[in-house]
Amino acid sequence: QAKNSAEREAVPYHSGLETGALHKKRLGFALRTAIDEKSLSVVYQPIVRASDLAVVSLEALVRWNSKEFGPVSPADFIPVAEETGFIHDIGRFVFQQACEDMANWPGLKISVNVSPAQLRDPNFANDLAAIARRNGVVPNRFKLELTEGLLVRNPTIAKRKLARLKSMGFGLSLDDFGTGFSSIGYLRQFPFDWLKIDKSFISELGTNPTANALIQSMIALGDAMDIAVVAEGIETAEQLKLLRLLQCEFVQGYHLAKPMAAADITALLARLGEGRRMFSGPSDSGY
Ligand code: C2E
Ligand code: MG
Ligand code: MG
Ligand code: MG
Repeated sequence: QAKNSAEREAVPYHSGLETGALHKKRLGFALRTAIDEKSLSVVYQPIVRASDLAVVSLEALVRWNSKEFGPVSPADFIPVAEETGFIHDIGRFVFQQACEDMANWPGLKISVNVSPAQLRDPNFANDLAAIARRNGVVPNRFKLELTEGLLVRNPTIAKRKLARLKSMGFGLSLDDFGTGFSSIGYLRQFPFDWLKIDKSFISELGTNPTANALIQSMIALGDAMDIAVVAEGIETAEQLKLLRLLQCEFVQGYHLAKPMAAADITALLARLGEGRRMFSGPSDSGY
């Protein structure tokens, strides 16, 4: 429970003295022992159908409670892990954990974030497939979340790798859509099943007319291309209401549910029952 409330502000280690390169070096060093020390864990955030608020899938998000630094945000340590190469171990750890946990949640898909460095690894697809097989989980139950940067930098290679993952059965999700530099024409070349509108757009929903128009066009784009659209970072009832008006199909954010430990997800699903609808909780205010 304490873990959940610590989710939002997970960066209490900044001393003010430790900044920049030195701090990154120390993080990178501490990270190497994180798996063995069992200070890495995985939490899951529900992704919900906007129309009836049914939980349709979960996003796996890594957490690091460092012995030395306390809780460190992935926004801070993932870039370090990419630089040091430790991201590959982290990626396999998260995937293994998701395989174990999802045995408790039949019928739910799990989204797993994939860094550019992971996709670049020639063994990546085979590693994932091997872990899934070992755990008796079919790749169909996973969606791999990738960001635009990766596609723009080396489209030819990315296209080939994504096609391979897709043919193995993995679903593909384009994360943080709208923050990179990909164009519409670009998107067509890649076999994405899901598109996630970045939370920076959602936070301006209702206050900035441009944001509304952009979100609307992203939703239309998804519809036209037959790609499921998820809006990320829904924090208020008002944002949810507007997204439903814009006919956004799926939503994710603190207003619906925060990232939670696996046991809390199991308890939530038990409480929601068969339809998995988020009747109770902050969003239960009569939509
Ligand atoms: P992301 O994939 O875009 O994940 C969504 C982030 O938004 C998560 O932050 C989540 O906790 C946060 N979030 C969810 N709902 C809300 C909301 O209503 N408001 C706000 N302000 N934030 C919300 P988190 O867990 O700190 O992760 C940050 C980023 O770190 C992720 O962004 C992803 O890019 C990366 N990351 C997290 N876990 C992994 C992982 O296992 N592997 C890799 N490669 N990257 C990861
Ligand atoms: Mg993601
Ligand atoms: Mg995102
Ligand atoms: Mg991101």
